[in-house]
Amino acid sequence: MVTGGSRGIGRGIVESLAAAGAKVAFVYQSSKEAAEKLAADLSVNGVEVWAIQGNVASKADADRIIQDVITKWSKLDILVNNAGIVRDTLLARMTEEQWKEVIDTNLTSVFNFCQAATMPMMSARYGRIINMSSVSADFSNPGQANYAASKAGIEGFSRCMAVELAKRNVTVNCVAPGFIETDMTAAVMNAAGDKIKQAIPVRRLGKPEDIAHAVLFLAADESSYITGQVLKVDGGLTLGGMT
Ligand code: NAP
Repeated sequence: MVTGGSRGIGRGIVESLAAAGAKVAFVYQSSKEAAEKLAADLSVNGVEVWAIQGNVASKADADRIIQDVITKWSKLDILVNNAGIVRDTLLARMTEEQWKEVIDTNLTSVFNFCQAATMPMMSARYGRIINMSSVSADFSNPGQANYAASKAGIEGFSRCMAVELAKRNVTVNCVAPGFIETDMTAAVMNAAGDKIKQAIPVRRLGKPEDIAHAVLFLAADESSYITGQVLKVDGGLTLGGMT
């Protein structure tokens, strides 16, 4: 189960999980055409990919979606909370709506889906939960107070969940991407692309598949001894060296 699978990083994760043999359900909000095309394109040769419309900020939608997936496939092994938005603006200008929209979509959504998935995973004594954070969780970017708070919240939430669920063989980890080529970063890349690439030691933006690769690693059976961690996938952006 992947939230925000219609575009960008989530789409890369859906493609990688399907290629690895998983049955994949993913949530989208408004990109109906792209979501249904992705599901149809990937659902070949016995692979099952299912696009589900919903708003991740809604607890009722999360409960319905997780229940539908379990009804259809009888269990839920992997949950990737990926859906997210930005509403960047300096705090002095930030509206209450911009604050709430980001916190609800990015952080409350993680509560919504994790809570709905917890009982089935605990009963099955198996689960892999991967929550999408960001290097912004501990970077001090002006204009991102709402976004940074949501991502730092995800990391704290994930550590508590990891401890609560460890005995049941359910792991909870975060992936924290740096700059990845998606719709989310298109505007900032147009405005300051060269400067951003110069700040990244590997001198390129990440691709959705770079993040999908890390998610697959944490989703694997073999990762059962890794829990409560944040895996940065940022080309060295946060190392702080002189490059
Ligand atoms: P994106 O290209 O803008 O895609 C966002 C996805 O989330 C879309 O599938 C969108 O669905 C879905 N979504 C947004 N709000 C939703 C809602 N309320 N309910 C259901 N689905 C919703 O973003 P991205 O760059 O791939 O980012 C994915 C995640 O990685 C986010 O959590 C983001 O914070 C994180 N991240 C990204 C970067 C980066 O450089 N791109 C860096 C660090 C962290 P629709 O298509 O239907 O709108």
